[in-house]
Amino acid sequence: MPAQETFSFEVTSTLPNGKGRTGIIHTPHGDIHTPAFIVVGTKATVKAVLPDNIKDLGAQATLANAFHLYLQPGPQILDQAGGLGQFMNWSGPTFTDSGGFQVMSLGSGFKKVLAMDMAGKQTDDVLAEGTTRRAHVDDDGVWFTSHLDGSKHRFTPEISLQIQHQLGADIMFAFDELTTLAHTRAYQESSLERTRLWAQRCLREHRRLSIEREHRPYQALFGVIQGAQYEDLRRKACQDLSAMCIDGQEFDGFGLGGAIEKENLGTIVGWCAEELPANKPRHLLGISEPDDLFAACEMGADTFDCVNPSRVARNAAIYTADGRYNVSRAACKDDFGPLEEGCECYTCQHYSRAYLHHLFKAKEMLFSTLATIHNEYWTVQLVENIRKAMLAGEFETYRDEFLGRYYANGGRVKF
Ligand SMILES: [Zn+2]
Repeated sequence: MPAQETFSFEVTSTLPNGKGRTGIIHTPHGDIHTPAFIVVGTKATVKAVLPDNIKDLGAQATLANAFHLYLQPGPQILDQAGGLGQFMNWSGPTFTDSGGFQVMSLGSGFKKVLAMDMAGKQTDDVLAEGTTRRAHVDDDGVWFTSHLDGSKHRFTPEISLQIQHQLGADIMFAFDELTTLAHTRAYQESSLERTRLWAQRCLREHRRLSIEREHRPYQALFGVIQGAQYEDLRRKACQDLSAMCIDGQEFDGFGLGGAIEKENLGTIVGWCAEELPANKPRHLLGISEPDDLFAACEMGADTFDCVNPSRVARNAAIYTADGRYNVSRAACKDDFGPLEEGCECYTCQHYSRAYLHHLFKAKEMLFSTLATIHNEYWTVQLVENIRKAMLAGEFETYRDEFLGRYYANGGRVKF
């Protein structure tokens, strides 16, 4: 039997609304105290920073992308290395996403698909810019074209799980179909059914691989909840996936995926929290904006990931408690204060805005390193502070104070 007991989740406190909670996810590579922000290292590296930097800034886990690692260097390389954590020299817990999002959206002009769908066109084809077809979804899986060399590839639920087992992360996600908010209701229904059938296949393949690879640490599998903005579809997906059991194998947790409008985020997370079992963790894919993090934590999501803190850092955008600002602006040229007054990150302890401004203007590589350390620290600490406020029974006070200050000037620092 797979050593499933090495993965578990415990709830340590619950908000008065009965949804938001603190907890601990136990994995073979250590614990994650939740709510927690998971730092993204798409290609088995958090761009521009050392794993030690990531650990020092307080991150508990990292998340890599199955699609990118499948194309390059290939999952067998990570398997030979002893898994993702070993390969990238990160000793803590790791996540991989299923690759579904990238397979269906990367290089395929997904925004354009949105626009086309807006015009009332209903299709299960994801079309690239112009007329090149990059991805085609059918009931068995997805054909797609590599953005690296134009080669053709096939992803199915089984192939995604085989890749993710080779990558060896502690937490993996089931292969699901990505839809947009603009897809018709009818399409969302058929897509949800396809994702349900794929979830069964993922569980079956996960069970088989867990037994076959018993010599490796147990890898947890999260089912992915789709259903876009529709309450009945989201609730149905939660009920279907939480009841699913193949040869004794259930999902170990759940990912809340798919298209979510900002204003509905808390509501949708809340529906899912009401339907999903309390004793399994819930990961919300792809958010990092402060108001989204507070809403998601309040309504019962446990972990989050997003590329934004490091992506915007490389473009000189710096997060502070008073909103974001751009360190490339002229006002920073001779400002010898830290990126953020009072920040305890490595960058703010040792460097000035003037120095960061100079590095950015001179296109020095160190800029990305230092700016990323600040933004990742800032985001990880924000969620850590939310966790502490929850434990102290001060969530609402902290939320109102934080968001009131952060958005006082529309989320931008006034110079
Ligand atoms: Zn800082």
